[in-house]
Amino acid sequence: MFNFILFGPPGSGKGTQSVKIAEKYNLAHISTGDIFRKNIREKTELGIKVQSIIEKGELVPDELLIEILENAMDQYKEKKGFVFDGFPRTKQQAEDMDVMLEKRNESVSLVLALEVNDDVIIARLLKRAELEGRKDDTKDVIENRINVYNNQTQPLIDFYKDKNKFASVNGIGSIDEIFNNICTVIEQNI
Ligand code: AMP
Repeated sequence: MFNFILFGPPGSGKGTQSVKIAEKYNLAHISTGDIFRKNIREKTELGIKVQSIIEKGELVPDELLIEILENAMDQYKEKKGFVFDGFPRTKQQAEDMDVMLEKRNESVSLVLALEVNDDVIIARLLKRAELEGRKDDTKDVIENRINVYNNQTQPLIDFYKDKNKFASVNGIGSIDEIFNNICTVIEQNI
C-alpha cells in the first residue's frame, strides 16, 4: 500500500491536490478536517465536542484523532493506499500513526510538503473565506492557525527527515503545475 502524507500549512493547497492525487493513483483521500466539518454539520457527539476548538483554530486533542483515522481507513477496502490530508499535525499523532500502521503491517511511505510562505497563505485563506464562508477563515483565526502550525506541526518535518521519508515541492504556481511536480516525486517513490 502507498501511504502518502500531503503536508503543509493551512491554505497551502493540500485539499485541492489531495483530491487529484487520490484520483490519479487510486488512493483513498482522508481529510481529518473534512471529517470534523461533516460531524459539525450533522451535530454528532464528536461534532459538538470539537466545534468550538475548530472555530478558534486550535487543534482537536490528539487522543480523539487516531480512532477517527482508523475508522476512516476501514471504510476503504479496494484502494491501493491513502492520501492523508491534515494528519498528522503533532508529534504524538505521528507516533500514534506509526503504531497503528504497524499493527496493519503497513508504514508511512512518503511525506510531501507544499512550501508556501505566510503572506500567500493569508491571502489565499481570506479569499476562501469569501468563497466558502468557513468559520475558521477569519483573519484572527487564520493567524492562530498559522501559529499553531508553526509551533506544533512544522516540527514533524524533522521527525520524517530523520526517517528519510520527507520531500517538498514549491506550493506556489498553477494547480496543474504543482500537481505535476507532486506526481514526479510520487513516481520516484511509489
Ligand atoms: P483543515 O481542514 O485540515 O484545515 O482542518 C480544520 C481544523 O480541524 C483544524 O484547524 C483543526 O482544528 C482540526 N483538525 C483537522 N485535522 C486535525 C488533526 N490532525 N489534529 C488536530 N486537529 C485537527
